Amino acid sequence: MSWVKFTKKGIYCVPGKFYLDPWLPVKHAVISHGHADHARWGMRHYLCQDATKPILLHRIGADISVESMPYGAQRTINGVAVSFHPAGHLIGSSQIRLEYKGEVWVFSGDYKVKDDFLSTPFEAVKCHTFITESTFGLPIYKWLEENELQQQLHNWVTLNKENNRTSVFLGYSLGKAQRLMKLLNGLDQMYVHSAIDNINNAIDSAGISLPPTQRLESDFNKKDLEGKIVILPPALLGSKMLKRLPNAATAICSGWMQVRGNRRWQSVDAGFAVSDHADWDGLLNAVKSTEAEKVYVTHGSKATFSKYLNEIGIEAEEIVTEFGEEDDTAKDETNQSSI
Ligand SMILES: [Zn+2]
Ligand SMILES: [Zn+2]
Repeated sequence: MSWVKFTKKGIYCVPGKFYLDPWLPVKHAVISHGHADHARWGMRHYLCQDATKPILLHRIGADISVESMPYGAQRTINGVAVSFHPAGHLIGSSQIRLEYKGEVWVFSGDYKVKDDFLSTPFEAVKCHTFITESTFGLPIYKWLEENELQQQLHNWVTLNKENNRTSVFLGYSLGKAQRLMKLLNGLDQMYVHSAIDNINNAIDSAGISLPPTQRLESDFNKKDLEGKIVILPPALLGSKMLKRLPNAATAICSGWMQVRGNRRWQSVDAGFAVSDHADWDGLLNAVKSTEAEKVYVTHGSKATFSKYLNEIGIEAEEIVTEFGEEDDTAKDETNQSSI
């Protein structure tokens, strides 16, 4: 019988008596990263990687009980060795490795295999059983190299500037926003929404330096923003605030942009496929490099991806979890702020 179980509260380590990214309140939760579908409110105790700690304190509450460890350090909980390994998805994001009586399981959380030069790059961890996400587990998903993507974004900003337009990027406040800051760094002055600025401050308190930005105050001067760069959470699309920005050209940045005609976003001027998840090849390479004998697939295109793995001789099975396809559904802090 397996010592890791898929339960209605989340992925449960039986001998360790703890859950991995549970979606219902439990006593002990080990957390892969700070996104709202993985790090939820209501756990008695949280354990996460060091850089994730200030993010949890900011997003879930300053009064939660949370302990953290650096990447690679090991802690034994009821006979189970637990460690965090870089997932490359965003700052602090981790794969969680569990070892019990010589058997190793790795839970990927969300991951990206391409280096974004911001989060610690993904590291393949050998294991017997690998639980992988498959948000973009279809062969149509193939991301550009980081320098090509950067060129695309730079060209767009330059074009906007020539037309006296403000370049407004819409991206989630945790992960996507910092990624955009990195990609656009040095091009022009960057203004970020307060929800993003608050997350940046939390990341800063973990001792990680981010590109310089200015907080977009509610009484901003239109003249100051002309031709500049503004980063906002996607929930602000159609907001009064966006309408007040001078001559705004808007762009949504999401992996879903690879597929044309994503109807939800027809009101924007541009779409860029910027994703913090692995693309099809990235997922395949990651799975292969773990050398796992058994793979459990969750998130997104799990049916297609697990079917393909079985076809190429890797035993795979779909599992049902309550992780969102966060590029689409993650909650953001936007409503907490007034702008
Ligand atoms: Zn995530
Ligand atoms: Zn997720």
